[in-house]
Amino acid sequence: MKHISLLGATGSIGMQTLEVIRLHPDKFSLHALAFGQNVDKALPIIQEFQPDIIVVQSPQTKKELERLISHKRILTGSEGMIEASTDPDVDILVNAVMGSIGLRSTLQAIEAGKTIAIANKETLVTAGHLVMEAARKHNVSLLPVDSEHSAIHQALNGEMHHHIDQLMITASGGSFRDKTRDQLADVTVEDALNHPNWSMGAKITVDSASMMNKGLEVIEAHWLFGVPYEKIHVILHRESVIHSMVEYVDGNVIAQLGTPDMKVPIQYALTYPGRFELPTTKRLQLEEIATLNFEKMDFARFPCLRMAFEAGREGGSMPTVLNAANEEAVQLFLQGKITFLQIEDFIEDALSNHNRIEQPDLETILHIDQVTRQQIKSYIN
Ligand code: NDP
Ligand code: MG
Repeated sequence: MKHISLLGATGSIGMQTLEVIRLHPDKFSLHALAFGQNVDKALPIIQEFQPDIIVVQSPQTKKELERLISHKRILTGSEGMIEASTDPDVDILVNAVMGSIGLRSTLQAIEAGKTIAIANKETLVTAGHLVMEAARKHNVSLLPVDSEHSAIHQALNGEMHHHIDQLMITASGGSFRDKTRDQLADVTVEDALNHPNWSMGAKITVDSASMMNKGLEVIEAHWLFGVPYEKIHVILHRESVIHSMVEYVDGNVIAQLGTPDMKVPIQYALTYPGRFELPTTKRLQLEEIATLNFEKMDFARFPCLRMAFEAGREGGSMPTVLNAANEEAVQLFLQGKITFLQIEDFIEDALSNHNRIEQPDLETILHIDQVTRQQIKSYIN
């Protein structure tokens, strides 16, 4: 029996993780869960899974929850998430919160020697060097939940690192893949949230439309697999059947395929190096799909992807700025305060105003994250 701590239980990845746990009650149990504010969604989860630890974002949400249930261990905020991530009874931390808010819990869980299933890519983007250094030091496995990284992880199984020639990350293209840049000028939040292949949380769906999601994934892949940016390529593949590929020095390419269902990579992270049955997933019927399409990525069409590569290559504190600026700009877009194209303008501005710091420590990263967010907010005042 593996005891799971799940951060972001009420989210898209969180709910699908619960589905996986539900399918294997003899193998997994939910020891702790954290969510933000969505008490209505959390209540049935708590009643069903009876976790020992519950974490909510604020004291106000705690009060709201206590009016509905009595529970002896309801914690709050980032200290609460750390406690839920490091509790001695936890075997695996599934980090599925949205945003760099997940960083400190991840670092503390690594120090406590927990295996980590990581969906929370912003953590690796904002502080990849710190997370990977800590994981090496404490000999902790970081198992990818992101479908592209799960694909690469499987394609790398049993191979020698120095035989990798390139990682090829596939991109569906998001909601606006068939629009020109001119047509992006007046797209709405509703348009952006209408992803052709995947149903996900709002922030990552907007990131997919701007191609920032792929940019964050490039940086995530760089850290998870220790591959330099020159050897990471993105290719547009609208069917989302091939989830990513690895090309080796002898020209062999190993790809991982499947239907677009996040429960597959979530479960693989929980069962690695084993595999369990997943009866609910739709199986791939290649003869129904018939054709797979691939296109070269256009950096002029998708400036967010270009900025992410540049920030990744420049390294130091640049990816922290990229991530914080993006998180804040996407929130403003979702609130209807800026246009879709202003997201990339704001990020570009934040990056060009930042004086890069080499090897930032945790305190510096948290500081830069806050300063960048303030700066983005100030643009609309
Ligand atoms: P959602 O927006 O659906 O869910 C986010 C979760 O985080 C919710 O449970 C939310 O709680 C919780 N949360 C937000 N802020 C806080 C906080 N301050 N304290 C505690 N909990 C908080 O996001 P997704 O599930 O879509 O994405 C989660 C992560 O997984 C992201 O990093 C994303 O990039 C990554 N990912 C997602 C994929 C997907 O298919 N959705 C695919 C690959 C990666 P509440 O709503 O209750 O406030
Ligand atoms: Mg992905």
